[in-house]
Amino acid sequence: MEIFDMREFDNHELVLFGHDAPTGLRAIIAIHSTMLGPAAGGCRMWPYATTAEAVADVLRLSRGMSYKNAMAELPLGGGKAVIVGDSRKAKTPELFEAFGRLVDSLGGRYITAEDVGTTTADMANVARATRYVAGLGAAPGEAGGDPGPKTALGVFLGIKAAVKFRLGRGDLRGTRVAIQGLGGVGHHLCGLLAAEGAELFVADVHRAAVQRACEQFKAHPVKVDEVLGLDVDVLSPCALGGVLDAQSIPRLRARIVAGAANNQLAQGQDGTALQAAGILYAPDYVINAGGIISVSREYHGGASEAQVIADIQAIPARLTEIFERARRENRTTNAVADQMARERLGRRPSQALVA
Ligand code: NAD
Repeated sequence: MEIFDMREFDNHELVLFGHDAPTGLRAIIAIHSTMLGPAAGGCRMWPYATTAEAVADVLRLSRGMSYKNAMAELPLGGGKAVIVGDSRKAKTPELFEAFGRLVDSLGGRYITAEDVGTTTADMANVARATRYVAGLGAAPGEAGGDPGPKTALGVFLGIKAAVKFRLGRGDLRGTRVAIQGLGGVGHHLCGLLAAEGAELFVADVHRAAVQRACEQFKAHPVKVDEVLGLDVDVLSPCALGGVLDAQSIPRLRARIVAGAANNQLAQGQDGTALQAAGILYAPDYVINAGGIISVSREYHGGASEAQVIADIQAIPARLTEIFERARRENRTTNAVADQMARERLGRRPSQALVA
């Protein structure tokens, strides 16, 4: 595997492979940039089929964190970690403690938190070995805790901004929203949308998650392979990345795509296909920054939950600026966001990012 030649490699500062034989830990930490501060980004646990797949994911995700943190105006660089393994079978407290030792070996260049497949309980085990971790339990009213609900709040506010911009509607009453993925973010997002009167169509590979959303929020269940093509106002991808590609985009009937998943566009050019189809795309790393905003406030200390919420409330204005600039300059929203993020990072575009 030629890491330096991989399409996902974007002048990353560091890629660290960690192995701990007693616990079976196999982890990779990628630091994309520490230009704006220590690299921060969650730890994903996923049963990658190959090491190459895990490396590609951690490279892509860590670059996304640089962009996300820059756009959210946080004093943080971009990094990410992946643990190879099935989060439903292979978790032990010792495994996460070993991961904590790996994080600690970087002396604060990388700060971890939860992501897909990891929880606040796992981060508590990481914290036994390092102080470079956030997303731990927080006292009521204090910043911190599970970032999922904060990410959901940012996505919710972002959806409202997109609906206003694209459909000219001031509220979400009767707006049809399809949500793909009902995990920590997706389920919470459903609650916020339902409270504003949106009509929900939900899909998840786990039937129990669908049932819960249908019971709690009067959502309509949809098959996993049908959710992307639904005739709705908003499609909200809240499962995994890469869902918007040459196969899926021609099937979309939504007028807006705005969701939590990282790396929704398989390639930069997929943003062009969305624009050509008249679909407004809310760049993922801008709309889904609520969780890292919470993590940042928690990590730096002394902040209240109210401050976190106030920071998250800046997300819709940031998105609207991108939407307006994209319309004015006849460019894709993802190209505009990438350029703004690169300017903040002081970086020139890399081949992989040109859209
Ligand atoms: P999660 O693991 O709690 O939930 C993901 C859900 O998606 C699960 O219920 C899973 O069953 C479902 N899913 C997986 N594949 C699916 C498919 N093909 N179709 C339908 N459902 C499918 O993760 P999460 O924390 O809710 O995060 C969701 C997404 O948002 C991820 O891409 C994550 O990287 C991104 N994100 C999360 C946060 C956060 O604060 N948790 C922050 C930023 C971005």
